[in-house]
Amino acid sequence: MNTIEKFNQHVMNTYGRFPLVMENGSGRRCTDENGKSYIDFGSGIGTNSLGFCDEKWADAVCGQVRAIQHTSNYYYTKIQADFAEKLCTSTGYSKVFFGNSGAEANECAIKIARKYSFDKYGKGRHNIITLVNSFHGRTLTTLSATGQEVFHNYFFPFTEGFVNVIANDIDDLKEKLDDTVCAVMMEYVQGEGGVIALDKEFVDAVYTLCGERDILVIADEVQTGIGRTGSLLAGDLYGRKADITTLAKGLAGGVPIGACLTGEKCSTVLVPGTHGSTFGGNPIACAGGKAVLDRVTGEGFLDEVNAKADFIKSVLAEIDEAESVSGLGLMIGIKLKSKNAADVVKKALDRGLLLLTAKDKVRLLPPLTIEMNELEEGLNILKSILEE
Ligand SMILES: *Cc1c(COP(=O)(O)O)cnc(C)c1O
Repeated sequence: MNTIEKFNQHVMNTYGRFPLVMENGSGRRCTDENGKSYIDFGSGIGTNSLGFCDEKWADAVCGQVRAIQHTSNYYYTKIQADFAEKLCTSTGYSKVFFGNSGAEANECAIKIARKYSFDKYGKGRHNIITLVNSFHGRTLTTLSATGQEVFHNYFFPFTEGFVNVIANDIDDLKEKLDDTVCAVMMEYVQGEGGVIALDKEFVDAVYTLCGERDILVIADEVQTGIGRTGSLLAGDLYGRKADITTLAKGLAGGVPIGACLTGEKCSTVLVPGTHGSTFGGNPIACAGGKAVLDRVTGEGFLDEVNAKADFIKSVLAEIDEAESVSGLGLMIGIKLKSKNAADVVKKALDRGLLLLTAKDKVRLLPPLTIEMNELEEGLNILKSILEE
């Protein structure tokens, strides 16, 4: 039995997969079992922020595997302390809770928001506003939070207490921000929803209105965080710092991790017995995260990310079939004039380029470390497909 047959016989069929077995990777390229090479413009959906098997990152991760791979959270580890310090100081947050995924990071944020409000105001102020077209994860509660009806099927009953507001609609926000609301949760750039950045005016209105009423702002930076948008957090680009920020995808360079960061206001809401995770803060994940943060916060790194983003946008501007380009930094959506995004992704695969889609757009999430010549090579392939 070949790998795909074996896989399909034993792994649940929850993804539309391409018939392709990836075997190894190095830098911004990976190779399938037939030896065919691909340039990576997808980063494993934004996770492999330093590309495949980055030398320093791999040393950090493997070194940690050989030193101590895990202890329960009943003990301390140095790497979790070092990583937490680096993460908090570089983002300007006071405290972090570590989990293992974006959904878990958001679950933690939701629990903190509800408990903050319960502790201070008692019952009834538990609703959380999320945006239409958002994506917050696949657990039952984060599915409830996700503002897309297609996700609200089969698994009834869903967690109560989420109210959707239309993104960028300040009037809708005002109408729904009543005294049952404890938090507003949003992605600065809706990723899965089609790479759509929020308007500055809307983000300003969220912060102003929430600030007046002690309603918390939760920024879901699971996809936008840690350099993806050209600044460490996308909130920096809006001049805003949420009460709670969640991170996951690119944070540890491809090792499973989730992080929920809190400022002063919420950093003592969770106490022993109110939250936990067996694997949360796992030393291997922390070692990967520390290696990523050391690199991304290094001198000039984010300037290069922005230069690369500008280059991509300048190339796309010359392609007639690319009707418009959205997103921030190296999180890019391409709306096509007449071609189908999924077809483009398939053709690119044949020609050795890994792309993603987001709704009806082609989505680019290249590794932050991608080099100009690699970008050029990949964009040439994309251009040739779009101009056919
Ligand atoms: C991917 C994503 C999630 C879910 O992360 P998982 O690690 O798959 O649980 C949540 N929020 C946003 C914005 C995401 O892009």
